[in-house]
Amino acid sequence: MLEKDCLFCKIIEGKIPSSKVYEDDKMLVFKDIEPKAKIHLLAIAKDHFKLLSNMDEKQAETLKYVLVKIPEIAAQNGCKNGYRLVINQGEDAGQTVFHLHIHILGGQTLPW
Ligand code: AMP
Ligand code: ZN
Repeated sequence: MLEKDCLFCKIIEGKIPSSKVYEDDKMLVFKDIEPKAKIHLLAIAKDHFKLLSNMDEKQAETLKYVLVKIPEIAAQNGCKNGYRLVINQGEDAGQTVFHLHIHILGGQTLPW
């Protein structure tokens, strides 16, 4: 299910443009508009939920599917020596878009 007022749902629907690097019926990966590393991608499920704490069983299955796909997509997009995954959860983490997303950061040595 998509949410009318969600930025990432609008990207899924094509109402807002994005630089897509991978798409199938369950997920989408696109370039972050303000990259925080040489490679910065965002992986999302095509099913809107805000937080891990809101996730139902079906969404958990889809998240597993997304996680299994990520290594191949990261490699295809230039992450040769590893990468970092980040899932911000809520205000203290600085989450700004409330459609669960996985940041894929790489292409350089990342500061901790
Ligand atoms: P978070 O702070 O974890 O909620 O991450 C949201 C991310 O979405 C940030 O890194 C933003 O730069 C990114 N972002 C916001 N709007 C867009 C957009 N239209 N296309 C691609 N990335 C976006
Ligand atoms: Zn959404």
